[in-house]
Amino acid sequence: MAGELEGCTMPIKPENKARYPKNWKSEVVPRIRARSGNRCECTGQCGIVHSIQPEEATTLRCWAINGERHPIGGYRVVLTVMHLNHTPEDCADDNLLHGCQSCHLRYDQKDNQRKARVTRFRKQGQEDLGV
Ligand SMILES: [Zn+2]
Ligand SMILES: [Zn+2]
Repeated sequence: MAGELEGCTMPIKPENKARYPKNWKSEVVPRIRARSGNRCECTGQCGIVHSIQPEEATTLRCWAINGERHPIGGYRVVLTVMHLNHTPEDCADDNLLHGCQSCHLRYDQKDNQRKARVTRFRKQGQEDLGV
């Protein structure tokens, strides 16, 4: 698992590149980086409960810090800005999360599973789930 994630930087998918705003790299990413303090901002959005640290017992925030070893996986952390609703055009602060590889992958997998479920439902001719 650690080797698999090593050096992974989550590049923007080519088909989505045109959808990112022009100021993505110059303004949006620096803004979110400043907000996160270069530490993963995930507080459970990826679907797992992050370990409780005594001094921050209420937030359950992921402990991955950009450029350092991941506290659980051991690989070097690369934080990337992700869109919670998977819409690159939507760069509102609350749609963006500075996340480590683990949280990013888990979040995407969770979403893919949800999408697959919805697709299955649609194929069966059941009513739209509204998601
Ligand atoms: Zn994380
Ligand atoms: Zn997480």
